[in-house]
Amino acid sequence: MQSVGVRSETTRPRRFAGTEPLSDAELGCAPVRYPKPAELTRTLSFAGGAKTLQAADRLGLNTVADLLEHTPRDRLEACAVAALAQGQPATILVEVKQITARPVRRRGMRPLVEALVTDGSGTIRATFFNQPWLADRYRPGARLMLHGRADGRGRFAVQAHVPTEQLPGTVAADGGVGVGQYPATDGISSTQILAAVREHEQRFADVLEPLPARLRVRERLLDRGSALRSMHFPLCDGAAEQGRRRLAYDELLRASLALEHHRRNRRLAGGAPKLDAGPALTERWLGAQLPFELTTAQRAAIQAIDADLAAGAPMRRLLLGEVGSGKTVVALYALLRAVEHGYQAALMAPTETLAEQHFRTIATLLGSETVTAGLLTGSTPAARRADLLGKLSSGELALVVGTHALIQEGVRFRALAMVVIDEQHRFGVEQRAALADSAPGALTPHELHMTATPIPRTLALSRYSDLDVTELRELPRGRLPVSTHLCCSEAERNRAYARMREEIEAGRQAFIVCPLVESSDELQARAATAEYERLKNGPLAGLELVLMHGQMRPARKQEAMARFVSGQASVLVATTVIEVGVDVPNATVMLIEDADRYGISQLHQLRGRVGRGSHQGLCLLFGRSDSRRLQALVRESDGFRLAEIDLTLRGHGELVGTRQSGRDFTHRFADLTRDQELQERALIHARRMLDQDPALASPEHALLAAMLTSVPA
Ligand code: ADP
Ligand code: MG
Repeated sequence: MQSVGVRSETTRPRRFAGTEPLSDAELGCAPVRYPKPAELTRTLSFAGGAKTLQAADRLGLNTVADLLEHTPRDRLEACAVAALAQGQPATILVEVKQITARPVRRRGMRPLVEALVTDGSGTIRATFFNQPWLADRYRPGARLMLHGRADGRGRFAVQAHVPTEQLPGTVAADGGVGVGQYPATDGISSTQILAAVREHEQRFADVLEPLPARLRVRERLLDRGSALRSMHFPLCDGAAEQGRRRLAYDELLRASLALEHHRRNRRLAGGAPKLDAGPALTERWLGAQLPFELTTAQRAAIQAIDADLAAGAPMRRLLLGEVGSGKTVVALYALLRAVEHGYQAALMAPTETLAEQHFRTIATLLGSETVTAGLLTGSTPAARRADLLGKLSSGELALVVGTHALIQEGVRFRALAMVVIDEQHRFGVEQRAALADSAPGALTPHELHMTATPIPRTLALSRYSDLDVTELRELPRGRLPVSTHLCCSEAERNRAYARMREEIEAGRQAFIVCPLVESSDELQARAATAEYERLKNGPLAGLELVLMHGQMRPARKQEAMARFVSGQASVLVATTVIEVGVDVPNATVMLIEDADRYGISQLHQLRGRVGRGSHQGLCLLFGRSDSRRLQALVRESDGFRLAEIDLTLRGHGELVGTRQSGRDFTHRFADLTRDQELQERALIHARRMLDQDPALASPEHALLAAMLTSVPA
């Protein structure tokens, strides 16, 4: 009997490389659990009801997967109770001393829960509304993270709460890694989001792993689920960064794969049409229709393009030109070169406003030439869209200008030979490639990419490794650099408005960029509307003002823009929807509120909207006088120099506007000022992967391939 027992003990599973057999308890709790990705597609629910759900929806939080991908923006130390400011939203970390439910006198109201809480620095009376059960859940001694507002009379109205034992590591008493701050909005707080992530914590194990295991091990990367988890709940100081690196790697690899794949396809697809016939149309156009002389830089760019087009290989050129250097004319030249050879040409811009403007410009610049051109954007009515698509696929339409709508399903060209992407840094790699890929089978179109944003080397590597670069550093003759001033006091603000009136009385026009509200587009729109009303009834009373913001319907935006372009309105009050491309040469003044919240290159882009005609441009920045970024803008007018300054300032860790903190527009996790090495590795792997498996058809690449075909939003 005994020997049997011994034998059965020896067959029990053992610890790896160990001699001790595992105990029953250990065997019993060994987790055997397979990921259930379907769980990630479940719809989220929130305690706060419909209003919270709507707010979550505005943040793009609809499913569990959305929630897990919604990582904290930064980590803040909680506020000390003693330091709470009256009326300000704040997060505190406290221990419950006493807690009671108190009936409320008014009928129909649930009892109020009141807790005396402390964090060592001070004590405050926290009130929880409408949740009587909390008095039983949070006993004295419970440690809580509370978000709400202090009323200045010893009370703290709680809007969201989480027990801190649900936040391992994130709230180490000595500060440590701090409390995750989530992008939030009106109706849902960072703490509510945190609580929701906590609730679905199990689901990190269900996150799909797109990288082949071999690659992941070799690159020492966390699996994707753990990476997301570490960003939400880092267990130690470096953990969040490790998670970020992994997620950044995914983005960089994905971009590299798209770029490489595109490049290889083009090579396989063979020749691009040779466009070397005499320049009949373009010659006439340049000679007769243009209201100005080309600059030397523009001429050089045109020559470079001509040489590319005559060579027979597909052109892949990047036109890197200072804001206002006149890239549009060069683009139009390239488009017309294709058209005059009987081919089609397409121009894609990142916003509807810009696409509409290009379409108008082209119509004017073309004057009496008969080129059939169409405009295709997200707000093109269905019937019109169907008509345009028909004409594109039949070849009847020679030239099309549009937005992302150009790369949606169903857009087919008959003979696309030229693709121009304006403000191309605003598009993802896949999106830029998509337009060229919509050309018919054997035809590889020429590509011209345009940007005013000088690029750090990392970005150059990830995006332009296969592009030839032409720089347009010269501004048209007679153009003076925009004179830029920093306004810090009320007196200066009043003088700024007075200066603006003077310009307008002299027949010029002005832009006003509204105060920035980050948390939601809706709030931003409200702020813009309020600013518009304030100016109209106050400092700018008597002038014709128009308002433009992201929440307006396309038709209303068009109307506002049209009133401004035609000169009916002399002041355009807008959000940063006008950031890129907008070209109204008669506008000479730009006033930017909250300027220190924007990044250098964004401000440089913005002020590039003025001083585009023969009159001197004026840019008035409202912001802090000690901001080094604003000082740099006052001092420097060269975009390339500013880009360098920007990089050094960021290197020194100056707090920069979140919208441009070294993040590429299409990258959420990758930071191109820091991730150069990661980028290089991703590119090497992308190449290697495609060498071995050109169509990414093998099972170990299946998930990666699936991610690639979904164009990023
Ligand atoms: P960007 O390079 O920023 O896209 P645009 O192409 O919009 O600049 O041109 C800026 C302004 O300069 C436009 O109003 C355009 O008509 C004008 N412009 C372009 N080229 C010249 C030139 N050679 N001489 C004078 N004005 C020009
Ligand atoms: Mg432009």
